[in-house]
Amino acid sequence: MTTPHHTSCPLCGGTVEKGFTTFSADIQGRLFVARHVPANVCGQCGEEWIENSTAQELERLAMTALEARREVEIVSLAA
Ligand SMILES: [Zn+2]
Repeated sequence: MTTPHHTSCPLCGGTVEKGFTTFSADIQGRLFVARHVPANVCGQCGEEWIENSTAQELERLAMTALEARREVEIVSLAA
């Protein structure tokens, strides 16, 4: 789901603003965690949307961790 900047939350009608979230996924028994992931976040209900370009970057990082056979990979997307 993509959401334009400064729009209303489709779930609760709250204001959606730029923020950061923590993304985690269990991939083939290995834990992948990404901190400071840019996201659009609803200030009212906390629902989060990650943009496509960010999702692709997360996928690339997750695959790199998988190839390295690390049990736990924690990365930060903060600039
Ligand atoms: Zn909301």
